[in-house]
Amino acid sequence: MKGGVHVPNLEQLLELNLPFYQSLAPKERLEFNKRVEIFIANKRFTAIDCVITIQDKALIAAGALLPIFRFPEYYYPQLREILLYPDTFNHDYEYAGKERNILGMVGERLELKSTMILSLKAMRQGFGNSKDGKNVVIHEFLHLIDGDDFEIDGFPDSLLDHQYSIPFMELIRKEMQKIEKNKSALDSYAGTNPAEFFAVAGELFFENPAKMEKNHPELYKMLKKVFKQD
Ligand SMILES: [Zn+2]
Repeated sequence: MKGGVHVPNLEQLLELNLPFYQSLAPKERLEFNKRVEIFIANKRFTAIDCVITIQDKALIAAGALLPIFRFPEYYYPQLREILLYPDTFNHDYEYAGKERNILGMVGERLELKSTMILSLKAMRQGFGNSKDGKNVVIHEFLHLIDGDDFEIDGFPDSLLDHQYSIPFMELIRKEMQKIEKNKSALDSYAGTNPAEFFAVAGELFFENPAKMEKNHPELYKMLKKVFKQD
């Protein structure tokens, strides 16, 4: 793995855009910064019809690192390239014209499993308002983790020991019922299937843990265990 790419004023950028970062101790911040710079050096970023800055790359790297910060050896082994489209896109990968509602994509639906696509606009919005529980970068990287066992099914095998799979999936099922009954603080998209549930719940967990703890204490406790955030 290559060493890091220097990002000017990284600490200020992360402090401004990442509530999680604000809670880190000074030593942990240094480690986080270093890993952001290593991530940028080792993944290819390709901008299609748009221009991305080193700050954009740093935010994407930071979003990728949030769920795996307590797993220092983990660097998304499957992922090689991140494609940035200027705007939302559709299933034909068109990012202009009508009916484009995809903000990001990874894994099963992509021909190349080593590629992630992100809408640059959605990516920047995800960080701009960082407490609304919506962040496409965190969302897509959670799908990647979930898919490490070649199955995007909602259970993150690389993070959580298999002995927890039954209680974990049971909890997801219960929480999905709350969404159905309109009794959930999670975005209703989490009700689509367990994989989307995991990604959407993770977004809220990292963007607004207080809201999750208040509304979904059991899920909050479980996700703390998954991401080793105790
Ligand atoms: Zn998704």
